[in-house]
Amino acid sequence: MKVLVVGAGIAGTAAAFQARFRGAEVRVVHDRAGASELYSGALDLVPWTRRGRTSLSPAADHFLEEIGLWSSARDMRVATGAGVVRPAQGADRALLNLTPLGGMSVAVANAERDDWDARLLVRSLCESGWARTTGTRFESVDVPLLRHGYERRIALHDFAALHDSADRRRWLCERLEGAARPDAWLLGPWLGIDPATASALEQDLGVPVGETTSPPGGPAGARFVRARNALFERHAVSVRNAAVEQVLRRGRRWEVSLAGGELLHADGVVIAVGGVAAGGIVLEAPERQLRHPSFRLSLSAPVEMFVRQKRLENVASAHGFDFAAHGVGVLEHVGARPRPGEQGLYLAGDVMAGRPNTVLAAVEMGVAAADEICCHGGAGATAPA
Ligand SMILES: Cc1cc2nc3c(=O)[nH]c(=O)nc-3n(C[C@H](O)[C@H](O)[C@H](O)COP(=O)(O)OP(=O)(O)OC[C@H]3O[C@@H](n4cnc5c(N)ncnc54)[C@H](O)[C@@H]3O)c2cc1C
Repeated sequence: MKVLVVGAGIAGTAAAFQARFRGAEVRVVHDRAGASELYSGALDLVPWTRRGRTSLSPAADHFLEEIGLWSSARDMRVATGAGVVRPAQGADRALLNLTPLGGMSVAVANAERDDWDARLLVRSLCESGWARTTGTRFESVDVPLLRHGYERRIALHDFAALHDSADRRRWLCERLEGAARPDAWLLGPWLGIDPATASALEQDLGVPVGETTSPPGGPAGARFVRARNALFERHAVSVRNAAVEQVLRRGRRWEVSLAGGELLHADGVVIAVGGVAAGGIVLEAPERQLRHPSFRLSLSAPVEMFVRQKRLENVASAHGFDFAAHGVGVLEHVGARPRPGEQGLYLAGDVMAGRPNTVLAAVEMGVAAADEICCHGGAGATAPA
C-alpha cells in the first residue's frame, strides 16, 4: 500500500510515522515552514485556557514516545516567556516542568540578552496563582552567560545553537554553578537546537534546568524539525521538498501533481497542510472572491471549506468574506473536510475544520488518518467526519 502525506508539520509527521508502523510505503511532500516550526514547545489537546478531554489514544502516545522530543504528563506546568505559569499536557523536554518544583526555589538566570528581563519575569511568576498556592519562590540571579558582546542580540535560534557544543555547554554549566545553588534553574529558550542538549546540561548540573516557552519561530520549532527529520530517517519515510498543486482521484487511486509538473500516485492521501496561520489555507484576492469561495487550500483538492461548523458559502456573502461581521479571530476557525464520498482522502491537523489547532489534536488526527487508510484499505476507505 502506498500512502502520500502532504505536509511535514506535526500532523503530517504523525500520519507518516503511523502509516509506516502499519507497513505502508510512505512518501511525504512538503515545502514551506508551518505552524509546527513556530510553536511554543508546550503541548495541548485543547487550547490551555479551556478545559477539555485529557487522555490520548495509545497510537498518539506511541508516536510521542517514538519522536523522543516531548515528555507528556497530565499535570505539567510551564512558564511562558511573558511570565505566566500555565498548564500543559506535555512539552519539549527542554522546557522546565514546574509541577514537581512546587514549594521549592527556582532561580531565573538574569543574562545580558536584550530580549530577556529576568527581574520582570520573576515579578510576574511570583504573582501567579500557582506560585502563591504552592509557596514556590522565583528569584532573579545574575549570570554572565554571553561570551561575546554580539551574543546579546543575535537571533534566539543562533544563541540556542551555541549550546549544542559540549565546550559551550560546560561553560554554561560552570557559570550557573558559580552563581547560585537553587533547587532548579529557569532559563530563556537557549538550550540548543539539538533535542539532547537540555538533558545533557541537566545531567552535568545535577539539578533540574529548563527553558520558558519559545516565541514564534524560536528554538522549540527548530528542535521539532531536527526530531522529525531523524524520525523519517529511522523509519525510512521518503521525503520530497516540493509544493503540491493538485490532489485528484484517478479511478481507485490518487494522483498528486507537484509544482513543475511531476505526478505521484498513491492508494491513500493525507492532506496535512496546516491552517491559515501557516499558509495551508489562503484567503483569495478580493477580485477572485466574486467567482470563488473566499478561503481555499494551498492546493486544489476535493474538499469543502468551513468556518466554525458552517459551510463557507453559508457564511460568506456574494461580496466575499465579511470580516466586519465575523471578526479577525474567525481565522483560527477556518478549515476543510473531504467532500463526502471521497474514499481514501483524509485531512489532519490545523487544516481540519471543527477541531482545535493544537499539537496533540494534530497528532491524534494524523495517526487516525493513517490508521483509516492502512486498516480499511486505502482507496476503499471513507473519509472520517
Ligand atoms: C505561534 C504559535 C504558537 C503555538 N503554540 C502552541 C502551544 O503552545 N500548544 C499547542 O498545543 N499548539 C500550539 N500551536 C499550534 C500548533 O503548533 C499547531 O496546531 C500544529 O503545529 C499544527 O500542525 P500541522 O501539521 O497541522 O500544520 P503545520 O505545522 O502548519 O504544517 C503544514 C505543512 O504543510 C506543508 N504545506 C502547506 N501547503 C503545502 C503545499 N501546497 N504543498 C506542499 N506542502 C504544503 C508545509 O510545508 C508544512 O510542512 C501554536 C501555533 C503557533 C503558530
